[in-house]
Amino acid sequence: MNPTEFVLKLKEKGIILNETQIKQFHDYYLLLKKWNDIMNLTTIIEEEKVYEKHFYDSLTVAFEYDFSNKKMLDIGTGAGFPSIPLKIVFPRLKLTAMDSVAKKMKFIEDVVKNLGLKDVTIVPDRAESYIVKHREEFDVVTARAVARLNILMELAAPYLKVGGHFIALKGAGGQEEYHEAREASELLHLNLYAHQEIELPEEKSSRHNYFYVKTEKTNPRYPRAYNKIKQSPLKKS
Ligand code: SAM
Repeated sequence: MNPTEFVLKLKEKGIILNETQIKQFHDYYLLLKKWNDIMNLTTIIEEEKVYEKHFYDSLTVAFEYDFSNKKMLDIGTGAGFPSIPLKIVFPRLKLTAMDSVAKKMKFIEDVVKNLGLKDVTIVPDRAESYIVKHREEFDVVTARAVARLNILMELAAPYLKVGGHFIALKGAGGQEEYHEAREASELLHLNLYAHQEIELPEEKSSRHNYFYVKTEKTNPRYPRAYNKIKQSPLKKS
């Protein structure tokens, strides 16, 4: 998907990019290429692939959920997916981009500065430690390719306000993870309200995005320490 096709495919979905936004995606791509020469940010670096498998893929969740003006946390943002494409499309999004690898956050700092993005908080930290001062603070939490769904939920749910949304972007194995995470979602009061099954327009690989709403406050015992979460993901005893 080249940049022109990217603009057209988004338009078909009701997302209309202006000249500034088109340039911001181009500049983001150039920075990704530049930084990827000195550190390992992504194995996908050919322009048409980045536009489809990173940029377009990150934006599929916006076909279902309106991010305008929301306070959002992206856990494990890495090279900025899905957070930076969403921030470009929704300039008024109040974004917190988090990753445990500080070097990746230096890249995000450079992107934010060069693209002129406002209202972005960059957090080089782990989800299970940053939570201490940020419980129930966000309208929406996203995560793409960070951990299995039953693990991610325990990291994400405590950050959400009651009524807030958790959005997980998953690949072809998403459905299996969804079933595996059913008990965890009940314990964390996360109710699934939408599931998108998407085929990338040209490359044709499949994606599963899951949308949950939080219906009650999260028990303060969550999240547990990361090794506990990993060793024994939440399920009803
Ligand atoms: N979301 C990006 C994407 O879709 O390209 C990056 C995916 S990368 C495979 C997973 C990222 O999650 C890594 O950069 C890793 O450092 C980060 N990560 C994993 N566990 C984390 C945690 N508990 N808190 C914060 N970041 C975490």
